[in-house]
Amino acid sequence: MTNEYEVIIIGGGPAGLSAGLYTSRARLRSLLIEKGAVGGQITNAELVENYPGFPQGISGLELGQLIHQQATKYGLETLQAEATGLELQGEERVVITTKGKFTARAVIIASGSERRKLGIAGEEEFTGKGVSYCATCDGPFFKERTVAVVGGGNAAITEALHLAKFASRVKVIHRRNEFRATRILQEKALAEAKIEFLWDTEVEGIEGKDIVKRLNLSNAITGEKSTLEVAGVFIAIGLKPNTDYLKGILPIDDAGYIITNEKMETKVAGIFAAGDVRLNSARQSITAAGDGATAAIYAEKFISR
Ligand SMILES: Cc1cc2nc3c(=O)[nH]c(=O)nc-3n(C[C@H](O)[C@H](O)[C@H](O)COP(=O)(O)OP(=O)(O)OC[C@H]3O[C@@H](n4cnc5c(N)ncnc54)[C@H](O)[C@@H]3O)c2cc1C
Repeated sequence: MTNEYEVIIIGGGPAGLSAGLYTSRARLRSLLIEKGAVGGQITNAELVENYPGFPQGISGLELGQLIHQQATKYGLETLQAEATGLELQGEERVVITTKGKFTARAVIIASGSERRKLGIAGEEEFTGKGVSYCATCDGPFFKERTVAVVGGGNAAITEALHLAKFASRVKVIHRRNEFRATRILQEKALAEAKIEFLWDTEVEGIEGKDIVKRLNLSNAITGEKSTLEVAGVFIAIGLKPNTDYLKGILPIDDAGYIITNEKMETKVAGIFAAGDVRLNSARQSITAAGDGATAAIYAEKFISR
């Protein structure tokens, strides 16, 4: 493996893999750098029902592996390493990783975002088994069941309203006694009979056997403990884009998202961003894949200029 490429892609989720498929198929020498297993966040979804082309649905893990297989067929190289920095040296963009430095004419950043975690007992164990970070993705699995949503901002209330279409009861658990969500969302949630609010309440643990059965709660004011029987819990306490390694190099908004135009170009020539990592992404696999393809097409144009 030499260290010189035409395109380097950081992140092997749907955005990065799709970008890699397009750049390698365009005969550009391409390297995908992924710090974990390829596939990205979608590998956490047991069944993806909204990715076109799979009428019976497909496991997120398999979807990631298939796109990787497809891109590798056209010559995409994959390096398991973490990108820790990015430098500009004349025409070259230098990606610094835990396995050395790699240069390219164009870089596509597709390092995604991570759901903020509660960091409580049972959360990791039951992820994909009743613990979810995406109501759009997993809501239909909870038809006529009781579910909880943790959080009080726009994301939590949006998740609760979406879940009310499927679940019999939606309990919104918020550690404060007022919402952070916009008024219009609050009004909608308060008008929805299936949604109930547990104010001043913190979730201390998630219990179950193979799948989620109950939550251990604590009143934030009195400290009183209680349990809540649920079939699922949706955690919506915010997202954290994976952009710490890019600070000072690219324009990033206050929350850490990369600002791009419709060509997925950042303000820095030859550096593109795609998928959940960019501001205003719809945060779905199909939109991430579309961003990746767009970034690849404009990266190719940039290189051939
Ligand atoms: C539980 C769950 C279920 C979901 N279900 C669905 C669904 O049914 N349908 C749907 O459309 N969407 C679903 N989503 C959302 C979907 O997974 C994301 O929108 C999509 O994966 C975003 O793709 P991405 O490529 O932009 O980023 P990601 O998938 O986040 O991929 C980013 C990749 O970059 C890597 N990375 C990060 N930083 C670095 C670094 N410094 N160096 C190297 N690598 C790095 C990460 O390890 C990761 O693999 C779900 C998400 C979750 C969490």
